Amino acid sequence: MTNKLKYFIGNWKMFGDLGSIKIIFRISRFLHTFKKRNKVVLCVPSTLINHFTKKIKSKNVSIGAQNCHQNKNYGAFTGSVNARMLKNAGAKYIILGHSENRLEGDTNFIIRKKIESVMKEKMNIIFCIGETIKQKNKGRTFLVLRNQIKGSLKKKFNLKNIIIAYEPIWSIGTGNIPRQVDLIKIFKFIKYECKKIFRTKSFPKVLYGGSVNEKNIRMFTSNSYIDGFLIGGSSQSSKKFIDIIKNYYK
Ligand code: PEP
Repeated sequence: MTNKLKYFIGNWKMFGDLGSIKIIFRISRFLHTFKKRNKVVLCVPSTLINHFTKKIKSKNVSIGAQNCHQNKNYGAFTGSVNARMLKNAGAKYIILGHSENRLEGDTNFIIRKKIESVMKEKMNIIFCIGETIKQKNKGRTFLVLRNQIKGSLKKKFNLKNIIIAYEPIWSIGTGNIPRQVDLIKIFKFIKYECKKIFRTKSFPKVLYGGSVNEKNIRMFTSNSYIDGFLIGGSSQSSKKFIDIIKNYYK
């Protein structure tokens, strides 16, 4: 395994209250003694961002948000928060294009607008892409991924601030994970496709997300294309999240 920086990004989804900060304190204490090069980000509900960023003094954990409204300015969008508001609250990263938000109406076009608004605030983006089981079974995975990439990323975007998270929808929260041979092909495809489309010298960072846990994490160690993981359910427990990191490097 290479000594390349690996990302372990948690997506808490609709979970947590002010007391849940203890989960992050435990993770931070563990990282303090851990020698490998990691970047750990916990994307928490908007209601917790400000409290957490004020309380967490250590730089080894960053706090992120899970979505934002595409409008760059204040406006009549009841219930929404935009990138600037999340940045002011202390978020450094924002997940965009998550399949749960795509289900609620986020199109490639809306996601592109959201990306633009986050770029304007000079924040980091975790851009989720992935196919449904139906699309996979019809052999359309590469086509779907290409459309999602081309539909939401503009050539002028600086890919350095965008981390792509490949999250097959059929894997999220189901316990089903792709075969490693397939995953390697998909990661190669995403990396080379982005390099071609955006004419960049280097490859973008690509994470895997979908049912990652402390038991299956070792399966991913042979895939040198993986830059890290987007972890949903298992990031809501400090023990599971820490064990994922520990077991990855075992
Ligand atoms: C997610 O929602 O981004 C995710 C990867 O969820 P889980 O790990 O629970 O499958």
